[in-house]
Amino acid sequence: MTGVFLLSLTSTLRANRNALFRLLVRYLGAVSVAFLLLLNTVQVAPGLLLDLRAVIVALAAQRHGFLAGLLVAIPVALYRLLLAGAGAGPSVLGLLLITALFSWRTGLFRTKPNVELLPWWRPLVLFGLTSLTTFLGFTLAGKSLLEALPVYLAMTCLSVLGLLTAQAVDQTRLRALARTEHLEQLVYLDPLTGAFNRRRFDDDLGHPEPPAFLLLLDLDHFKRVNDTYGHEAGDQVLAATVQVLQETVRLTDSVYRLGGEEFAVLLSPCAPDAAFRMSERVRHAVARDVAPRAGLSGEQVTVSGGLIPVAGLKRDILRAADDLLYSAKRAGRNCILVPQP
Ligand code: GH3
Ligand code: MG
Ligand code: MG
Repeated sequence: MTGVFLLSLTSTLRANRNALFRLLVRYLGAVSVAFLLLLNTVQVAPGLLLDLRAVIVALAAQRHGFLAGLLVAIPVALYRLLLAGAGAGPSVLGLLLITALFSWRTGLFRTKPNVELLPWWRPLVLFGLTSLTTFLGFTLAGKSLLEALPVYLAMTCLSVLGLLTAQAVDQTRLRALARTEHLEQLVYLDPLTGAFNRRRFDDDLGHPEPPAFLLLLDLDHFKRVNDTYGHEAGDQVLAATVQVLQETVRLTDSVYRLGGEEFAVLLSPCAPDAAFRMSERVRHAVARDVAPRAGLSGEQVTVSGGLIPVAGLKRDILRAADDLLYSAKRAGRNCILVPQP
């Protein structure tokens, strides 16, 4: 269970940059746990070993598919063959059957685990079938089938219990991850537009590897949109603005709604003129696309803004961007200003 708990710590929900490395760690971990189980075996008769190694193989096959199960099973099976005895052949056969049966619904291979929760009876049926190899082992050892029966029952019950417990441990971790992800969304996303919110903006601006530029934006005469078309239409304009911003900036840039009709874009490192070109692209895209997308044909929604490099104190950066924004409004709106040298 300690091993399974440690393995569960490598579970992720989202695609991860280190996905392959994690998978490798998961694999080596699974093989190690299976070996530990095999080393803690009970010799029920000469050459016949009872342990829980099958649980790990079943778990790998069920979560990641046939190939994953097989990859875990092979070193374990080879070691079991090395130990020899009447049970060696049937045990290897059992591991192969487990790999095939437990991966049935998962398929050949998956990097992202199949997180389906097995109902208790499915491992009971599957281990009930695969543990039949116990009888084969006892026959090969020249023992009676009656002697094999308690071992068969113990093997099946313990494996089922092991798998269900392992699954519960893993599921606890996955549920915690899902809950954290959901809470992160609640904490960091603006529900109306789906953009990052003010809290995330503050975190990102103070990040140890800060962005290179802040583009502070405010919709022009937005109050008029609300007054003319209603608050709901205004909301649609806000949502359309975020869509257009997100489509226009680079993947490495982030879009925030700071409140009301005020937005920010944090630009990842680039040259000042590239940042200015990006700002102009944003401004044009808003003027061209936001109104039609919000269903206000014949209207034009524009934006004013200030673009400044991120350097120095957060408070000063925000104040400087705000000053530029204010100047842009006074200069007639629908423009983006940068600090004068
Ligand atoms: P300016 O060009 O000077 O920025 O003028 P403005 O009309 O855009 O600015 P002002 O600050 O006068 O008005 C902002 C309006 O934004 C007023 C407020 O009702 C509206 N607003 C703020 N939050 C929301 C929201 O969540 N939904 C909608 N529909 N309107 C909002
Ligand atoms: Mg405004
Ligand atoms: Mg405003």
